Amino acid sequence: MDSSSFTIHKIEGYIANIYLFQYDNGLLLFDSGCINDVRRIEEYCRRNGLSPSDIKLIAVSHMHPDHCGGAKVLREKYNIPVAAHRDVDLWYSGIGGSLQHKFDCYMARNVARHNRRKCEKMLFDRVIKPDFLLDDGQRLPGFSDWQAMYVPGHTLHDLVFYHHEKRVLYLADLICNIKGKKLLPMPILFPDKMAYSYDRLAALHASTLLLAHGNPIESDDSPEIFAAMKAQLNRPPNNLMRRVYRISVYSPEARRELFKT
Ligand SMILES: [Zn+2]
Repeated sequence: MDSSSFTIHKIEGYIANIYLFQYDNGLLLFDSGCINDVRRIEEYCRRNGLSPSDIKLIAVSHMHPDHCGGAKVLREKYNIPVAAHRDVDLWYSGIGGSLQHKFDCYMARNVARHNRRKCEKMLFDRVIKPDFLLDDGQRLPGFSDWQAMYVPGHTLHDLVFYHHEKRVLYLADLICNIKGKKLLPMPILFPDKMAYSYDRLAALHASTLLLAHGNPIESDDSPEIFAAMKAQLNRPPNNLMRRVYRISVYSPEARRELFKT
């Protein structure tokens, strides 16, 4: 895909923002929203003279229901390849993973209710089998102007996507811009890894931060923003953060890392 020129579309999903990048000869989707967001993506495309069958790639940041829920349906319906971190399918594997998947769908439903959304379908397939397995630093297939960065902390397979030339960074959950406050995602399973991830993101000097939760941030001092996020990791967790953490430790991948000796 010829790099330089694209238009950014922000689609308001059921819980999270979904970003569609319009190039001259195709579309690139960052995260797929919840499973019920497939029709929102379709509607958005129709209203804006675009076609979902022109999406050339879905790049998935992590397996949570509001990010990965629609990916498999979109792939099946429109034959769109999916790219994600190489370990993405380990997260919800086995009995522990199945339990975690249900907890995560339950928590996503609570977020939707809190946002006064009507109850909609949330359960999705917990195994995605990506068409492209991504590692840290890898260019996106067909969109080599974008680079994946591995930024664990929220899970163990988080990716964000960076466009060096335009200094645009899709951050998924790494900053949640809620009511004017820049908050940590929940859960933070691995604070040390998260601190290192924020350091790496600060070094990019990105100028546009695209967030899954909240409005994009334009800044000429993004290192300062990431330093403030890192500092938040040292604050004691509140009750909600503690509750979310307690029901977020069942993925076998998470357990292996949390309880290693
Ligand atoms: Zn998440």
